[in-house]
Amino acid sequence: MSVMSDGKSDLKSEIDSLVGKLNKYSAAYYKDARPLVSDAEYDRLYDRLVKLETEHPELKSPYSPTQRVGDDAIQGFEDVKHTIPVLSLDKAYGIADLENFRQRIFKAGFRDVSFSLEEKIDGLSVVLYYEHGSLSRAVTRGNGIVGSDITAGVKTIRSVPLMLDKPITIACRGELYLDKKSFERINGTLSEPYANARNLAAGLIKRQKTSEVAGTGLDIFIYEGFLSEDAPENRGIVFNSHAEMLRFLTELGFRTNPHTRFVGFDEFDRIDEFIADATSIRATLDYDIDGMVLKVDDFSIRGKLGYTQHHPRWAIAYKFESPVARSVLKDIQVQVGRTGRLTPVAVFDKTFLLGSFIENASLHNKGYINELEIAIGDEISFSKRGDVIPQVEEVLEKNESGNKTFRFPDKCPVCGGKVEDIGKNTFCINDQCPARIVGEAAFFVSKTAMDIEGIGSST
Ligand SMILES: [Zn+2]
Repeated sequence: MSVMSDGKSDLKSEIDSLVGKLNKYSAAYYKDARPLVSDAEYDRLYDRLVKLETEHPELKSPYSPTQRVGDDAIQGFEDVKHTIPVLSLDKAYGIADLENFRQRIFKAGFRDVSFSLEEKIDGLSVVLYYEHGSLSRAVTRGNGIVGSDITAGVKTIRSVPLMLDKPITIACRGELYLDKKSFERINGTLSEPYANARNLAAGLIKRQKTSEVAGTGLDIFIYEGFLSEDAPENRGIVFNSHAEMLRFLTELGFRTNPHTRFVGFDEFDRIDEFIADATSIRATLDYDIDGMVLKVDDFSIRGKLGYTQHHPRWAIAYKFESPVARSVLKDIQVQVGRTGRLTPVAVFDKTFLLGSFIENASLHNKGYINELEIAIGDEISFSKRGDVIPQVEEVLEKNESGNKTFRFPDKCPVCGGKVEDIGKNTFCINDQCPARIVGEAAFFVSKTAMDIEGIGSST
């Protein structure tokens, strides 16, 4: 610590004390709905903190609650390497797959196993890294090895503790999402609405200014904690099961999902009932879920089951049935339409979906590619909504080759000329571009002005 004059160290301790109090009060208010002080008292302390921080920006604490409102600094979203394994889960597409999952555990010699059953939130997988109790980094899943730094945006989410009650070093996995009401409210104001809340959440957290992230309604459920074992500050803290871990995370101040339940090995015969229960409340939840996650509760059994090359053997994600198909992304072709708009199109092996074979699906634009963090080799899902062009829905499984998010071309793929971003779209601005001239001719002979060529169902 640097040496400070007495006046400054007094100010520093006043700031630290204000930060500590305000964080405690706001956690009680937002997380527990149990205010500890009046709004007026809170505002008085908050205003005092803002005044001190404005006068002495060098003393501003990285845990200051003033970060909850964000600022206008431009975010860089630098690449960050994960320090924990960010694996995805094996998928189940029916009850039979879940029964097979139980049988595999049974055959591995484990009889008296209970499971946690959690909602699978349809959001973005993120990791929050805490060092000595303070939030040091928030990172997207990315390709599982490297993700994007979204720390400043995540700090605006009030349920995320900036400082923990214990000075421990822990990495927490969670799901970042936007609730249904906020989705409708925000989407209604956009000239180019998003297809679903997950995509909008991905767009919001990557807004360039955190002042535009704050207050949008983004939130996070935390579902897994990884304690750094060799850290002296973690000494004496152990959890032996998922239930213990969730209790620990909740006590630490994290927002965990209250609908998580536990299923005994014998109760597993009723797993279809439990899933039906979850499905029946799906519409009443204020967030989207797209399935359920089953995990072995006991950590010593988890340890013995271990991992395949791709997944933990002790967990499986059950996906609700929906008219989507999946395939592996082979390529992304960027087409140029009549208006000069660049449209990325996913290419994959012929896959049957709702009555026809398809091998292409739209990726809409550069923004959509970045939101999905999609890379060649990823396993993807795609849908046909109504009779429209198939579109890529989500990345189910990251590629194992370390391929990074597809880099959108910074030149027109047809004429090599300059391109310009307008909103979420990218346009070739060369009016002599052959794609645009050919496109124009094609436009006059076709009945409808389609901006996307070469996509459609080939039967
Ligand atoms: Zn061009």
